[in-house]
Amino acid sequence: MKFKCPKCSRFYVTERVISLCEECYSPLIYFYDYSKIRDNLSFTDVDSFWRYASLLPHVNPDFRISLGEGKTPLFKASRLNSVLGLNNLFLKDESRNPTNSFRDRAASLLVSHALSLNFKELVCASNGNLGAALAAYCARANVKSTIIVPKRVDIGKLAQMKIYGANIIYNGETVDESIRFVLEKFNNENVYPATSGFNPLIIEAQKTIAYEIVEQIGVPDYVIVPVGDGGSVYSLWKGFKEFHELGLSFKLPKMIGVQSSTCSPIVHAFEKGAQVEKASSGSTIALAILVLEPLNGELALSAIRESGGVALSVSDKDIAEAQRILALEEGVYAETASCATIAAVKKLSESGFLSKEENITCVITGSGLKDQYLLAALSGFSKNINLADKVGLKLRILRLISLGETYGYSLWNSLSKSVSLQAVYQHLNELEERGLIFSTERDNRKYYSITARGVKVLSALEELAFLL
Ligand SMILES: [Zn+2]
Repeated sequence: MKFKCPKCSRFYVTERVISLCEECYSPLIYFYDYSKIRDNLSFTDVDSFWRYASLLPHVNPDFRISLGEGKTPLFKASRLNSVLGLNNLFLKDESRNPTNSFRDRAASLLVSHALSLNFKELVCASNGNLGAALAAYCARANVKSTIIVPKRVDIGKLAQMKIYGANIIYNGETVDESIRFVLEKFNNENVYPATSGFNPLIIEAQKTIAYEIVEQIGVPDYVIVPVGDGGSVYSLWKGFKEFHELGLSFKLPKMIGVQSSTCSPIVHAFEKGAQVEKASSGSTIALAILVLEPLNGELALSAIRESGGVALSVSDKDIAEAQRILALEEGVYAETASCATIAAVKKLSESGFLSKEENITCVITGSGLKDQYLLAALSGFSKNINLADKVGLKLRILRLISLGETYGYSLWNSLSKSVSLQAVYQHLNELEERGLIFSTERDNRKYYSITARGVKVLSALEELAFLL
């Protein structure tokens, strides 16, 4: 395999996976000689993304582990179009993959590659989807999966990792710290590296989403992608460019990257025309894109700038609203990060940036069933305030406090102000009366922390959430 540094253009030829350039520490890119590929190009008629094997890093087909990933539907969102005043909004529904996210493409390629090199264990720091996908494919391949997850991880994704038998290690508040832990503790050649930003094959697998879009509806004017570590938006751009380069399409789309306004280092860099800088903090409901230090940030920026697109952020409130509208109008229950794309379309069409006739494709990266707010969703849109509703909100408050000492107003903000501040204080009082949290006062402010009993109740409640 041949890898190229996108920054200093140095080449590396190796059979094992290498992550970063030894000279400039930039994430490496898998390198193709397109003139050679062009002559042997053929797409096989298999029911998975392996259709594009001739445009993927070579893995001996005998080691191929597939659960039927890829070939996901792409359809016109007719009702959403009329709500948003558009005519040509399409959804590429990646939640229809085997473990309900776009990461299954990467998991299939990585686990097959690990198996072909005779690895017995794979390690990945993940804030959810990639960990869940790898756990499933490792189960199928009988390879041990060790997944490092931060405390803030979507409960549905954690459930998937558990049921697929992953060895789960909790480390850090956000995935940034989990990644550092992997680099410190698993820096040896006996485990296969599968963390996003540290394995160039991930981008190769994900670029097939772009190939499928071109085959399904041609090249859109705009492609909108949620942005966490930046790998996805770059992957799709690479895919579109390759099809163009190979003469399989005749134009390129503009790429739009969306982040949450509470954590948007790539948007900041785009707006300032500068390099990506680490965000100091962030607390979005869209956990799949909660990344403070995006490893593929520069690649994401290059994709957005080169394509003539934009990077923008949307509020958590707009993301939550978009999730509801997408479900109500299209029957698609998408994870919060995916819904940021819908919130972005709304914002950009209202501002006149997107016009009515333009072909816009949103990538729905994963299913809402993976969300941490599953319980709240169960009851949140009901007119009756029932037990599950109250339990849902308490669970969210308790979980937020379990992440570290906090105060009422900050909690209210984290809940996207979806309830009244008064209601938050009411819940805090009730939780304190029950001995699940305790408060300390300083600087005229009451700070809340979780008690040992609170931790027990939280874990029991989260277990229960699966049953409701
Ligand atoms: Zn370099």
